[in-house]
Amino acid sequence: MGYPDTFQGFAVNDTSKWSEVEKMDFKPKTFGPLDIDIKIKACGVCGSDVHTVTGGWDQPRLPVIVGHEIVGEVVKVGDNVSSFKIGDRVGMGAQAWACLECDVCKNGDEIYCPKWVDTYNDVYPDGSLAYGGYSSHVRVHEHFAFPIPEALSTEGVAPMLCAGITTYSPLVRNGAGPGKKVGVVGVGGLGHFAIMWARALGCEVYVFSRSLSKKDDAIKLGADHYIATGEENWNEPYKYKLDLILSTANSNSGFDMGAYLSTLRVHGKYIALGLPEDDFKVSPESLLKNGCFVGSSHLGNRQEMIDMLNLAAEKGIEAWYEAVPIGKQGIKEALERCQSGKVKYRFTLTDYEKQFE
Ligand SMILES: [Zn+2]
Ligand SMILES: [Zn+2]
Repeated sequence: MGYPDTFQGFAVNDTSKWSEVEKMDFKPKTFGPLDIDIKIKACGVCGSDVHTVTGGWDQPRLPVIVGHEIVGEVVKVGDNVSSFKIGDRVGMGAQAWACLECDVCKNGDEIYCPKWVDTYNDVYPDGSLAYGGYSSHVRVHEHFAFPIPEALSTEGVAPMLCAGITTYSPLVRNGAGPGKKVGVVGVGGLGHFAIMWARALGCEVYVFSRSLSKKDDAIKLGADHYIATGEENWNEPYKYKLDLILSTANSNSGFDMGAYLSTLRVHGKYIALGLPEDDFKVSPESLLKNGCFVGSSHLGNRQEMIDMLNLAAEKGIEAWYEAVPIGKQGIKEALERCQSGKVKYRFTLTDYEKQFE
C-alpha cells in the first residue's frame, strides 16, 4: 500500500512519551468531489501540537499525528474543485472542515461553525479520523486550502497557516489600522507575528515582555515601544493608552491580567490568543475601571487567510523560523524545544522527500 490508498505519518502513541514518534500508515477520509490531496513539503510546529501530544488540554485520540501549518503541492483534485489544479502550491491551517451551510458559516465565520473539524485529533462527520501535517499527504476540502503567493518561501510561510492567521484575524476584526495603538503581550511564535502584522497594518505597536531580553528582536520585528513587565508598576505610564491588546500568554501563573487591562482606553479590547491549560483570573473591578472587553479569537476565515498571505508577500513578511528535517530526531527536538520556549520563534519541519516517497 501507499499513496493514494494510504498515507504515512509520524505518530505519538503515548502521552507520557510525547516527543517520541513512530512512522505509521493511515487511511485518509473518503475522497470527495470538493477535496484535494496535498503532498506535503513543510509543516510548522505549533504550541497546540505540544499541548495535544502531552495531553495538556485533554487526552488525545491515540495514535495522534499533529501538525497544522502545512505547505505542499496539489497532487489530486476532486471533480468539482474550482480553486486549484494539480501542481499548485497550497497551504492548510488548523481547520480541516466546516459545514459551510449554517448561519455561522454563511456569515463568513466558518472558523466558528458548531460542526468544525480540526486538522488533527478530530473526527469527520462520517467517522473518519483527521491526521495532521507530520505526514506524507493530507486530504482536505478546497475551502480549507489556500494559494501561496510566489514571493513567499515554503518554509517561511508554513508557520503563518496557524500562528500567523491566529494573530492577523483578531487585528483586522478589532479595528487595527493607522492611528491605532496596539499592545502585544509576549514575544514568541504568536507574538512575533502579531508585532509584524500590527506594524504592517499601520498601527503603533507596544510590546510587553517579562524582561528586556527580547527588546532587540521586538524592535526589529516592528515594535515602537517595549515594556518590561518584570518591573514594579510597569503599567503606570501606559494607563488608558491602548485601543487593543493581543495577549499570547500561554500560562496564567504569575500573570496579572488586571495590570494589562489598565493600559486600555475606555472600551478597549483585550483578546486572549494563548490557550493556557488553566483558567483565566480577572477581577470585576479591573474590567469596570475602563469598561474594557475581554475576548478571544479562533484562527481566521478564508478571505482573511488570503488577505494575510497577500499582505505578507507585499511587505516581505516571513516567519522567523528554524528549519528542522522531519524524522524521529527532528520532531523530538522541535517538540521539546517548543515546549520549553527555546526557539526564535517557530520551527518548520522540512526535507519531507527524505522520509516519504
Ligand atoms: Zn496552531
Ligand atoms: Zn457551519
